[in-house]
Amino acid sequence: MRVFSAVVLGAGGVGKSALTVRFVQNTFADSYDPTIEETYRKPIKVDDGFCMLEVVDTAGAEQFTAQSEIYIQLTEERSMRDVEFLRHQIYRIRGVPIPDTGSSLGSSTSALPIVIVGAKSDLISEREVSRDRMASLSQEWGCPFYETSAKMNWNVTEVFEEIVRQIRATIPEE
Ligand code: GDP
Ligand code: MG
Repeated sequence: MRVFSAVVLGAGGVGKSALTVRFVQNTFADSYDPTIEETYRKPIKVDDGFCMLEVVDTAGAEQFTAQSEIYIQLTEERSMRDVEFLRHQIYRIRGVPIPDTGSSLGSSTSALPIVIVGAKSDLISEREVSRDRMASLSQEWGCPFYETSAKMNWNVTEVFEEIVRQIRATIPEE
């Protein structure tokens, strides 16, 4: 069975552990140790093919706290910057040139398997702008974008199935 590795990246408190644990154990807790980096393995069937998915839940350094209006605005701007920064880091570390996405309309194809996640979609209902901006950015990059809720179990499996599809599509079988 092919083994795939996925790494969950993002700032502290955005919901990486909750997403990972919901996928692996199908549970949700009100808190997770923010300092622990854990690797899980789960067999998963995607499009009729079984594989083993290894998920690395990384530990962020910061923690979001309040859910005020300011927090939401800051988070929106921050999320955009964070996701751009992470994408650059991923390409840099893999030594792959960032695809040219300057060509307006059409969406490009991501050279590396990346799925963008907007977490905690149960919490904030007024995120239209953020959602639209993230969706168009993702499209520009050729990366699938999912809004998830680990709490409500919305789109969680879909994210991990999609990353498997992305890996299969971009990294050929040895
Ligand atoms: P991490 O630092 O990125 O791993 O973030 P955590 O997974 O530890 O989540 C931070 C906080 O947000 C915890 O209190 C979680 O219970 C909460 N949280 C995570 N996912 C969700 C979600 O989908 N909905 C809600 N309402 N809260 C969530
Ligand atoms: Mg965590």
